[in-house]
Amino acid sequence: MNIKDYVINRKIELKKEISSLTIKPKLIIIQVNDDPASDTYVRGKLKDGAEVTANVILDKQRPDISEEDLIKLIDKYNNDKTVHGLIVQMPLPKHINENHIKLAVNPKKDVDGFHPLTNFDPCTPKGIINYLKSENVVIQGKNAVVIGRSNIVGKPMQKLLLKENANVTQLHSKTTNEDMRFYLEHADIIVVAVGKKHFLNSNFKLKESAVVVDVGINRDESGLHGDCEPNLKVRLQTPVPGGVGLLTRLTLLTNLMEAYYGIQH
Ligand code: NAP
Repeated sequence: MNIKDYVINRKIELKKEISSLTIKPKLIIIQVNDDPASDTYVRGKLKDGAEVTANVILDKQRPDISEEDLIKLIDKYNNDKTVHGLIVQMPLPKHINENHIKLAVNPKKDVDGFHPLTNFDPCTPKGIINYLKSENVVIQGKNAVVIGRSNIVGKPMQKLLLKENANVTQLHSKTTNEDMRFYLEHADIIVVAVGKKHFLNSNFKLKESAVVVDVGINRDESGLHGDCEPNLKVRLQTPVPGGVGLLTRLTLLTNLMEAYYGIQH
């Protein structure tokens, strides 16, 4: 099933589940930037919440808020028993230390999965694994290659693929071209999270049975582009737009439901 239909179906199920609950799951999004890309992501999260009838609330703060005041605000929501999920939209203004903020969020409400003691897997890699399973992609014993090693995508992707018993290789900017070609040629599952338009292209020789997951979101004057050239000769390739971004958004809702059930009402 394509990702759009998969997400629509899961949202219908979530809406049904939430409509049977007297207390609705509540997610607070704190935003402290004026970044247009963040505005778009936040709008998407509010829209998703409304669609499934969850209570998703934006608390937009001025970008000059001090780190101390932001932590006080986070603490207010940490201690608010009516709040099940709490996220702080990244990026943060330069005067605020990202690690301090990630550590300030109650791990039980950390539905982004950023706290080291969190109960939740980060949304992008978790959404990808769930989608691959729904497509009956065999992960166990397969050669998986993750390109990119960021804390929000590459590293947790490697961890989750390993948990599913894949043989995982992680590549990055210091990988030689020769090694990049070698590992990609032998890969059954390829996750590309580099942030470079059409980084993976038809110049690479890939297995026809390979599954390619395109995490990249690259904006230019002609629109949104993935890290992979469209229509590679492989078994399955996730599109951009309408691909991993939708899975990430869906997983925020499923993490919120887990937080909801994990917290006493
Ligand atoms: P990031 O923090 O910039 O990390 C990029 C990674 O790519 C780094 O590990 C870097 O290696 C590696 N890299 C850069 N140039 C490379 C090269 N020439 N060859 C091999 N590896 C290279 O980015 P990110 O946050 O992981 O995001 C990656 C992309 O995914 C971006 O386009 C972002 O917008 C998108 N994204 C999408 C979603 C979604 O829901 N669809 C979610 C998050 C991110 P080094 O570590 O060696 O520098």
